[in-house]
Amino acid sequence: MVNQPAVDAFRSGLRGELIDPQSPNYNAARKVYNGMIDRRPALIARCADVADVIAAVNFARDQKMLVSVRGGGHNAAGLGVCDDGLVIDLSLIKYVRVDPKKKTVVAGGGSLWGDVDHATHAFGLAVPAGIIASTGVGGLTLGGGLGHLTRHCGLTIDNLLSVDMVLADGRFVTANAKENSDLFWAVRGGGGNFGVVTAFTFKAHDIHTDYAGPTLYPLEDAAEVLRWFSKFIVKAPNELTGFFAFLTVPPGPPFPAHLHLKKMCGVVWCYSGPLKKAEKAFKPIRAFKKPALDLVVPIPHPALQGMFDPLFPTGLQWYWKADFFREIGDEAIAQNVKHGAMMPTMLSTMHLYPIDGAASRVKNSATPWAYRDAKFAQVIVGVDPDPAKKDAISSWAKDYWTAVHPYSAGGAYVNFMMDEGEDRVRATYGKNYATLAKIKKRYDPANLFRVNQNIKPK
Ligand SMILES: Cc1cc2nc3c(=O)[nH]c(=O)nc-3n(C[C@H](O)[C@H](O)[C@H](O)COP(=O)(O)OP(=O)(O)OC[C@H]3O[C@@H](n4cnc5c(N)ncnc54)[C@H](O)[C@@H]3O)c2cc1C
Repeated sequence: MVNQPAVDAFRSGLRGELIDPQSPNYNAARKVYNGMIDRRPALIARCADVADVIAAVNFARDQKMLVSVRGGGHNAAGLGVCDDGLVIDLSLIKYVRVDPKKKTVVAGGGSLWGDVDHATHAFGLAVPAGIIASTGVGGLTLGGGLGHLTRHCGLTIDNLLSVDMVLADGRFVTANAKENSDLFWAVRGGGGNFGVVTAFTFKAHDIHTDYAGPTLYPLEDAAEVLRWFSKFIVKAPNELTGFFAFLTVPPGPPFPAHLHLKKMCGVVWCYSGPLKKAEKAFKPIRAFKKPALDLVVPIPHPALQGMFDPLFPTGLQWYWKADFFREIGDEAIAQNVKHGAMMPTMLSTMHLYPIDGAASRVKNSATPWAYRDAKFAQVIVGVDPDPAKKDAISSWAKDYWTAVHPYSAGGAYVNFMMDEGEDRVRATYGKNYATLAKIKKRYDPANLFRVNQNIKPK
């Protein structure tokens, strides 16, 4: 039961907006990126600033309401929204400030990666992020963050310098290497468990134009390509990365008509070193095998970051399964080839991201990310616009995962997981789980922030 006088007082003090089931924009506001998620919160607080976030946290705690925090709303498990509780929606806290001299970037807690890419590109800088520009800075960073620059510049958390946060007791704190360093350790991979991050400060890199794009190969060559790729990429210079994919070629430009709707395999490459050295870096790739299509060209970094956004608009049905791998052996290759060929819909895909290079120079205990020694993060994603395909895409992803999981390292990247229970969260954090649980007890003993890949306070 919502206490109406308390709600009225909360609403009148907000600079942003308090949305309830009677509000005309309620249905739009409760939607998240994954169209499979259909939750009905009691209230959605669109916070305009830090003061609003403090008020929202205090209100939820005092009213004993379930709380979810929404950054970009991209989480596949729908962790930005909850049933019957309060959504703290950060989408209005969207700003980016670049310091070109110090090469640092401050992004508001509700910013999207496209906002960061746009702002930094003007100064020839980039922050390592994911591969879709509409993803939230908040959720991606707090879970780790892998993408086109991981081998070159590390995970997103390896480039995080400081956060401003509102804690469960309503206090506002800064956490970095000097201040609240235990909290700073925990937010670099421990997800939204520790409070609401209202601002992120990142280190940026001198990256303006990449040499990037896909090379595609016939599905019949998938075993050969995957075997070659998994051995080649871990020895390649760190400026070069590429993720292996099973995909169906979209029926439109820039793809030639004879490949439209064909199931293929491929690698989406990104060379982020000096452009004049790019052709040389690609010599072994082009010598390995002539691809059916080679779309690798010089491309501005934000254009690469936004390349897949039109293919994956908001509201599609998504079901994800994931794991880390230390190697991709022959048996794992055989299972991948078998299940990759069975993709149930045009948008369903499998990505195998290398997470070595700069990311593996960090110790397993230096941040919550406990798989610095793993070489790959795999994600199997069933995707389709049609809700009637929900079961088909989910069961394909589950069957595929069941077949390859025995060859995995045990846990998975938290941001690639659905709601899979405590054992999976523990497997993912490994030895770091106990430290995370202690820090959780210090900063959120009542587990107010539990709509996430939850770490129980201990
Ligand atoms: C199409 C697609 C592509 C993706 N590609 C990549 C990729 O290349 N690399 C990668 O690393 N990940 C990728 N992801 C996964 C992505 O990192 C996660 O889905 C992430 O949770 C999204 O963050 P968000 O802020 O948009 O999500 P939300 O749904 O808003 O939030 C997700 C979780 O983070 C918490 N959270 C968000 N913001 C804050 C904040 N400011 N303070 C406290 N807690 C917060 C929420 O409480 C929730 O638990 C992709 C996801 C999608 C859908």
